[in-house]
Amino acid sequence: MKFNKVLDNCKIYEAGKPIELVVREYGVDTKDIVKLASNENPYGTSPKVTKKIQDISKNMFMYPDDSMYELKEALANKFKVTSENIVIGAGSDQVIDFLVKAKCDENSKILMSKTTFAMYEIYGRQAGAEILRTPDDQHNLEQFEAMYKEHGADMIFLCLPNNPLGECLDTKDVYEFLEKIDSETLVVVDGAYQEYAAFKDSKKRIDPADLINKFPNTVYLGTFSKAYALGGMRTGYGIGQVDIIKTMYKLRPPFNISTLSLAAAIEALKDEEFVNECIKLNFDEMKRYEEYALNKGFSYIDSYTNFITLKFEDKYISKEVAQNLLERGIIIRDLTSYGVNAIRITIGSEEQNTKVFKVLDEVLDELKK
Ligand SMILES: *Cc1c(COP(=O)(O)O)cnc(C)c1O
Repeated sequence: MKFNKVLDNCKIYEAGKPIELVVREYGVDTKDIVKLASNENPYGTSPKVTKKIQDISKNMFMYPDDSMYELKEALANKFKVTSENIVIGAGSDQVIDFLVKAKCDENSKILMSKTTFAMYEIYGRQAGAEILRTPDDQHNLEQFEAMYKEHGADMIFLCLPNNPLGECLDTKDVYEFLEKIDSETLVVVDGAYQEYAAFKDSKKRIDPADLINKFPNTVYLGTFSKAYALGGMRTGYGIGQVDIIKTMYKLRPPFNISTLSLAAAIEALKDEEFVNECIKLNFDEMKRYEEYALNKGFSYIDSYTNFITLKFEDKYISKEVAQNLLERGIIIRDLTSYGVNAIRITIGSEEQNTKVFKVLDEVLDELKK
């Protein structure tokens, strides 16, 4: 059967391997599996959120509040914007989808970094747009500027901090760059890991209200999937000027967030203490990975997120390392498909990380032969 032509150029998104698959394929016991492939919060969801979900589950027979009044008010308060500046998506993924569809068609160009979040390209191709990438692996604003000048772009994605590499630009430099961008170009600032970056280094912190007021052609994206530990609830948001947000509403399916997801997100915002504690633990544990890499003589990318990228250069082949770890029940992300010989490991709990080091020792020893 013939399908929409633009889909010929579309790839299927490859998610981190689920635990069940590793149990089935490699016969590893469920309890022995360490899954550090999708940047989930290893400390689980706040107990207050879990309790709320149990209470609210009796309302499942009803459609959710489609105005999402309470969640938008809570976010508006947190970020000092109005609820008209906010759109809620089934994950910030869905907000990316809305934005690309709102702005792009077959004649559009989208500019992004060489090694960045895979969904930008996937949604871009669905819209039939051309994808332009800067040459360096990590975000390089000079290259962004040069390519923008040469080719133009209808849309630009900045992932701050960047997934899957972990680096983050200084906000000052981002603002200088934005000064040079035409007001007709939609710039998306993906802040999926902003909570982590802001904790580690205030120079990387982005204030969404300040961003969209200074640059009305920008949209800030946030998610509850990472620091807020609600990946399974699929809730994210976009913050932008009212004209952009209103346009996105034309694309939004009704009831795009479930009753449980709404309740979970609202409750999670009330428990910032839990989030802050998780972020602190994240960076304490990340130090162990940095030391491990130095001891083993390979490099890592200084990370502002809840994961770390270990680069093997010519010492090991990342695909082999990842496969050997998988067979021993450690699920991490190989970055070969992104064009880098590296693995990305979500920073786990102390116990999980200790196990990673032990198994990684075994695997690296074996592959050395
Ligand atoms: C995880 C992630 C998202 C979105 O996650 P959702 O679960 O869809 O909210 C967006 N951007 C980046 C860079 C991410 O890593």
